Amino acid sequence: MEQWEQPIDTGEVPDDGSNFDVIVVGGGPGGAAAASYHAMNGCRVLMLEKAVWPRDKPCGDAVGGKSLSHVEELGVLPMIEATPHYVVDSILFGSTNGSEVRVMLPKESYEAKGLMSGYALPRIQFDYMMFKRATEIVLEADGAVIQGFSVNDVTVEGVGEGVRILGVKGKVGGARSEEPELAFRAPLTVGAGGYNCPVSRTITEVHGEPFRDDEHFCGGYREYWENVGGLGDSEGPIEIHFIDEVLPGYFWLFPVQKGVVNVGIGMLISEQRKQKGKKKSLKQIQKWVIEEHPRFKQRFANATLVPKSQKGWQLPFGSPRKNAPSFQPRRGAMAGAMAVGDAASLVDPFSGEGIGNALLTAKMTSRHFDKELHSDGFPEDAAVAYMEDMWKELGKELSNSTKLQRLMKRKRLTNWFIKKASKKKEIGEMMSEMIASKESQEVLWSPWFMFKTLILP
Ligand SMILES: Cc1cc2nc3c(=O)[nH]c(=O)nc-3n(C[C@H](O)[C@H](O)[C@H](O)COP(=O)(O)OP(=O)(O)OC[C@H]3O[C@@H](n4cnc5c(N)ncnc54)[C@H](O)[C@@H]3O)c2cc1C
Repeated sequence: MEQWEQPIDTGEVPDDGSNFDVIVVGGGPGGAAAASYHAMNGCRVLMLEKAVWPRDKPCGDAVGGKSLSHVEELGVLPMIEATPHYVVDSILFGSTNGSEVRVMLPKESYEAKGLMSGYALPRIQFDYMMFKRATEIVLEADGAVIQGFSVNDVTVEGVGEGVRILGVKGKVGGARSEEPELAFRAPLTVGAGGYNCPVSRTITEVHGEPFRDDEHFCGGYREYWENVGGLGDSEGPIEIHFIDEVLPGYFWLFPVQKGVVNVGIGMLISEQRKQKGKKKSLKQIQKWVIEEHPRFKQRFANATLVPKSQKGWQLPFGSPRKNAPSFQPRRGAMAGAMAVGDAASLVDPFSGEGIGNALLTAKMTSRHFDKELHSDGFPEDAAVAYMEDMWKELGKELSNSTKLQRLMKRKRLTNWFIKKASKKKEIGEMMSEMIASKESQEVLWSPWFMFKTLILP
C-alpha cells in the first residue's frame, strides 16, 4: 500500500459544546491550508472533514505555481517531491482543426521571478499530504481534527444587521449515523466544504442572495488511463484540446506519473443544458472522443482504463456575475464566517484551476482574523474587508479568464488564434507569461498589444 493510501490518525474527538478560535469546515486543499495558517498564527483550530482518509477528489490534478508557493510555505513540498509526480514544463493547446501550440513554462524565467512551474499528481496523493500536514500543525497548536464528521447545521444567531454565525453541528459518520449530534462554537467559522459547502450556503441564504448559478458552474468528468500514446514519462506538457464535439468545453490529457494520465472533459452546466437534444453526458462524449475521434483513437489504441476511476464533479467558477446583489463573484463572508476556494466560487473560468485560489484565500482568512481582537466574534466589517480584498486580489485575473473562456466558444476564432500561435513565437511567449504572472495578463488585454501580436505579420 502506498504511503498516501494509509489511514491518518487525527486523535481524540473533542467534547460536545467545545469552543475553539476557528472552526474549519472541510479538509480539502482550502480547508487544510486554512486550518494550518490559523494554527500557525497561534489559534486553537477545529478542522472537520466529512470523508475519511484516504479520499479521492475528481480533478485534473494540475497543481500550478500559485499553489506551489503555499505548498512550500506549509512544509508539504518536500513530501510531494519525495513521491512520484509529473513536472509540467509546458501546456499544449490543440484546436478543432488540428493545429497545436506548445506553450513552454520556462523554468529559468520562473525561478528568476520567484515563481514555480507546475506539478501534476493524483489528488488522492496531494490532498493526503495537505491534510496530514494540517493535522500535525493543528494538533501541535492544541487544536482538534475530526474525519468522517459531516457538518449538517450551521448555527446562526440574530436578525438583520446583527445576524452572525456562531459555529456548527454535525455527526461522526454522517447525518444518518446513530452517533449523537455534536455542537462546536468559535468566533470564526471558515467554509471550505467545496462547491456545496454548508457554511457558504448559509452565508448566501441569510442574505437572500443566490448560491448556485448554472451560467457560472461547470461540470467536470475525469478518468485515469494507462499507456496512452504520445506522452512523456515524468516531465513534459499537459494537453488541452478544443474539439468540435466538446465545444464550448475542452478535453484534457494531464499525465500524473509515469504511464498514468488523467483524462477528462469540462463544460459549463448552462451549455450542457443547451446540448440536451443530443442527450449526451460528459462521460458519453469522452467515450466517443477516445474511441472515435480521428486524432485520439490512435493514441488510445493500446491504452487501458484504470478501474473505478470514472468520476464526475462540479466546478464553481469565479466569473463575475451580472447584477451581483452585493459582492463578486458571490457573497463569501458575513459576521462569524469566511468562505475559501470552491466554497467561495473561485475556480478560474478558463483553465479550470481552483487549488491555487483555494490556498490563496485560505491564507487571506488568516490575515483578516485576529484571535484577540475578534474573541467576541468575527465582525461584519471585517467580513466585508475580506470580500473586498479577495476581489481586489483575484477580480482582474478572473475577469480576464472569463473573457478568454467566452472567446474560446467561438470556434473559428480559437482555430485562428491557435494556428497563429503555432507559427508566431511571440504569441507562445506571451501565453507562457500570461500563465505565469497576472501582471502580464493586463498587458495581454491592451488593444495595442493584441493588434501588434495577432494582426501584424
Ligand atoms: C473534473 C475537475 C478537474 C479539475 N482540474 C483542476 C486542475 O487540474 N487544477 C486545479 O487547480 N483545479 C482543478 N479543479 C478544481 C479543484 O478541484 C478545486 O478548485 C479544488 O478542489 C478546491 O479545493 P477546496 O478545498 O476549496 O474544495 P474541495 O477540494 O472540494 O474540498 C472540500 C472538502 O470539504 C469536505 N466537505 C464537504 N462537505 C462537508 C461537510 N458538510 N462537512 C464536512 N466536510 C465537508 C469534502 O469532503 C472535501 O474534502 C478541477 C475540478 C474538477 C471537478
